[in-house]
This record gives sequence, C-alpha cells and structure tokens, in this order.
Amino acid sequence: MAPKTDIEIARAANKKPIQEIGDKLGIPSDALLPYGHDKAKVGQDFINSLADRPDGKLILVTAINPTPAGEGKTTTTVGLGDGLNAIGRRAAICIREASLGPNFGMKGGAAGGGYAQVVPMEDMNLHFTGDFHAITSAHNLLAAMIDNHIYWGNALEIDIRRVTWRRVLDMNDRALRQITASLGGVANGFPRETGFDITVASEVMAILCLATDLKDLEKRLGDMIVAYRRDKSPVYCRDIGADGAMTVLLKDAMQPNLVQTLENNPAFVHGGPFANIAHGCNSVIATKTALKLADYVVTEAGFGADLGAEKFFDIKCRKAGLSPAAVVLVATVRAMKMNGGVAKADLGAENVDAVKKGCANLGRHIENVQGFGVPVVVAINHFAGDSAAEVQAVKDFVAAQGSEAVLAKHWADGSAGVTELATKVAALADGGSAAFAPLYPDAMSLSEKIETVAKRIYRADGVEMDQKIRAQLKEWEDQGYGALPVCMAKTQYSFSTDPNLRGAPTGFSIPVREVRLSAGAGFVVAICGEIMTMPGLPSAPAAQSIRLNADGEIEGLF
Ligand code: ADP
Ligand code: MG
Repeated sequence: MAPKTDIEIARAANKKPIQEIGDKLGIPSDALLPYGHDKAKVGQDFINSLADRPDGKLILVTAINPTPAGEGKTTTTVGLGDGLNAIGRRAAICIREASLGPNFGMKGGAAGGGYAQVVPMEDMNLHFTGDFHAITSAHNLLAAMIDNHIYWGNALEIDIRRVTWRRVLDMNDRALRQITASLGGVANGFPRETGFDITVASEVMAILCLATDLKDLEKRLGDMIVAYRRDKSPVYCRDIGADGAMTVLLKDAMQPNLVQTLENNPAFVHGGPFANIAHGCNSVIATKTALKLADYVVTEAGFGADLGAEKFFDIKCRKAGLSPAAVVLVATVRAMKMNGGVAKADLGAENVDAVKKGCANLGRHIENVQGFGVPVVVAINHFAGDSAAEVQAVKDFVAAQGSEAVLAKHWADGSAGVTELATKVAALADGGSAAFAPLYPDAMSLSEKIETVAKRIYRADGVEMDQKIRAQLKEWEDQGYGALPVCMAKTQYSFSTDPNLRGAPTGFSIPVREVRLSAGAGFVVAICGEIMTMPGLPSAPAAQSIRLNADGEIEGLF
C-alpha cells in the first residue's frame, strides 16, 4: 500500500473543538472568535489582558541552506511542539499562513508534513480566516487612492513615473508583473507603468507581522513611502489619507489564528511575509501572545539560517524585544549529500563521504547561530532512505563542533519519534545559557550593517556596492532612517549569491544591486541578485490536479 499523503493523514485527524485547544492554554471561550469549529481568532482584549504575565521560552527552528531534497522546517516545528507536549511541557507552535499562489503552483503547503501537521490543512492552505484577503484589500485600497489622488488634480505633486506602490494579488501570475494602468482615455486617469506583486510581498504584510498592536499598525501604515515628487521628496501613505481605512480593513486580520496539530496541541498560524524582501517570520503579536500562554513556544523562520535566522534575530527579535532561548537547526542526510555534490537523482544511494563533505554547510550555520549567543541543537529530520552510517556521520561531525545532533522521526511517527529531541531542546532552553545579542548595533551605518551580515554570516570577502547605492543609503541616514536594521534579499540556496555554490563557499563577494526603504515595516532591503516579487506558475501547475472528489473532499493539495 502506498504511504498516506499529507492530505490523507490530515483528513483522518481526530480534531478537537477549537475551544478545547484554547482551554489548554487557558484561553476562555469568550476570548475566542471561532471561524467554524476548528479555527478561531484570539480576541484583542484578551491579548491586552496578558501584558503582565511572564514569558515562556522561545525556540527557533531554522535550517541549513535549502536544497531541492527538502529539509522540513515546518514539519520539525510542528513535530517538536507535539514532542514537547508529549514529554509533559506546555508548548505551542507559531508558524506562518500559506499563500495561495505557491499552493497552486508547485505542490507543497505550509502546514508541515506526514504525522507532524497542523489541521485543518485544507483551510490553512486556502482561504483560512481571510487574513491575506484583508491584506490584499488594504494594499489595493491604497493603490486605488493614489491613482485617484492623481486623477483629481494631484495636489501632492506626485511624479507619476515615481509611484513605488504597486498592486498585489495572492496568485502566481507572471502576466501582471509589469503593466500599463489607466489606459482608455481621460476618464480613466493618467496612463503609467506599474505592476502586481504577490500579496505576501506587500509591505502591509511585513507591517502586520511586526506591529505590536492596532495603533502601531496604523502608524506604520502611515509611514510607508508610496511615491516620490520630482524633487525626489517622499510621499507617504499618510499624505494620501489611507492609513485609517486600511487599519479598519486589517482590524480582524491583526488577531492571531489558533488551530491545532494532529495531536491536538495549540498552533498559532498568523502572517506570512516573504522571506526575501521581508523578514519571513510569523507575526510578533502571535509569538508574544503564545509566549504569555505557553511555557515553550516553537517558531520557524523562512529559508536557511543565513537568511531566516539572521532576520529573525536582527529584525524580529531586535524590534519586538524577544530573546530566544534555543535554536534547532534542521538538517537532513539528503541535503548534506546535495551540499556535498551529489545530484538529486542519486540521493537514494548511500554516500557517507558526500554527507561528510556537505556537513561543512551545517558547520557554518552552527557557528553563525552560536554567534548570536543562542545555544543550538541539530535535528536530523529522518527520511526513509537514510542509512545508519550516514546519520552517524552527521552526528560525529556535529559532536566535533561541540554541539549535538539528534535523529528525529516526527514525520513518520509524530511526537513518539521526537521525544529525544524535545527533551534536549527543553533542557537547553531551561539551562538558561542563552545570551542573545543581535549581530550589529542600531547605531552602525546602513552600509556597514550590510557588510557585517555579508562578512560575518555569509563569510564573503566583502560587498560590492556602487556609489549610487552608497549615496542612497547615506540619504536615508540623513532623513533619519539610519537606525533601521537591514533585510537581506539573497538566494536561499547558497551562502553566496550563486545558487550553485553549495557547501561552505569562500572567496566570493556579495554584489548589492539595489536598496529599498520599507519605512513602515522598519527595515532597509538590500537586494543581492535576482529577486522575484511575483512568482509564475510551472508548466504543469499543481492546480491541474486539485479538485473535489465525490465526497466533496479536496484532492491534490499537499
Ligand atoms: P520547510 O518548512 O523547510 O520548507 P516543510 O516542513 O514544509 O519544509 O516540508 C517540505 C515537504 O517535505 C513537505 O511536503 C513534507 O511533507 C516533506 N517532508 C518533511 N520531512 C519529511 C520526511 N522526514 N520524510 C519525507 N518527507 C518529508
Ligand atoms: Mg516552512
């Protein structure tokens, strides 16, 4: 019999009513705003009432550089949460919501996998509680108001060639990347070039994920730069007068969503900013709420540790005042082999030497995470074909680094497969050895911050930044944005900007092609290499095999 697919496992879940899940965290029923029977938002008044409670311990799940072999950060986050609960700890997980676009593109949802999943996975991977629709609407309201402002006389003197605010859609649609708007005559406004990004790339998404409350949300929305005048002075969202109405549209979306794992443990699923031009972590409000309600909170950052963990530490933790207690670095034997030079087609064969070679990538990530002052344990996410000798090679390598690697079988066995890891992680977090500090101080110049990340995390020899970019950074510093952290946008496949340079490359530099100011989100994006803010669909999109079966169940969603 073929092994069960993720959706088959999820469908067979023995879900509890969401009130029972809330009860595990001491959330009274009247503080839950149910969306059906198995999802709820946690009410803002209740969240406000938690302010004086002590915080639980925050555990970050991150990974080596991803490979097409798959690493399983979300799967491990969910599995570890269940594992902690199984050993008697009060744990909750915090992960991101799913974007519709990728679900219909290449198969792969955002709810974990195997016996370590969040349910209802169908809802979570589709409309869920409507947060992304709200973000899309808020974003596009501002876009409509900008063009409307120009139409009615353009009192702000916006240079219509310099409108930076684009439109968004939660869909992979390359046809909309670059468009000409307002065609068709005088009644339709002033023609100009613009385009669409995917909703998760919206600055509104990043703001929703970093804002501490509705007031902070409104202020940050107002701070967003939407266009420039001919003299290059910025025009803000506040000038357009959209911040209030956008906040109204986002009011419900700001409240974190509570769902459950396959083992009926609480899972907060909230927000989903891009991991390249934004910081790639779930919302601050969900993480902070979870920390008030659980003793251990397991959360995930997108991409490998060079991007995800660095931004989690330097943007999210710095800005939200969070102090992680431990880090779990996910590695797989397959990915070690790929980092060691094995092609995807040959991953099935045992190759201990390639595993050893690929461990160089893991070693650098371990060192990097330790550099933030947070203790780290490696989770070897077990795949069916891994040999004992290959697993041992990873363990030996990590031991030689003064750390520890634990084999975890949550994908196949749920919490029963991850108790050793959970015990180690709990001990590490309880040990109190973390002394978290971000990589660079607020006061450092923006270009030095970029250089610091490139040299200390990527181990580049230096940064290539032309005079125009340096001048732009200087200008933002003069305008008062100098204390912001930087948000690096780079390929996730390598420490370098060449996706084919796996392992632990040296002797390269990081070219910074462009910098963007996300004044509302509160970071400066440094774009190193190509980045795509509106993905396309592959030649055979997953959408072609997604359908309702005779029982009205969804098929083809993974
Ligand atoms: P990430 O969060 O790192 O992107 P996910 O946890 O979402 O990765 O996992 C990606 C895919 O890999 C999912 O479809 C999941 O079911 C699968 N996967 C994860 N771990 C395993 C495993 N141990 N064995 C087989 N498949 C796995
Ligand atoms: Mg993930």
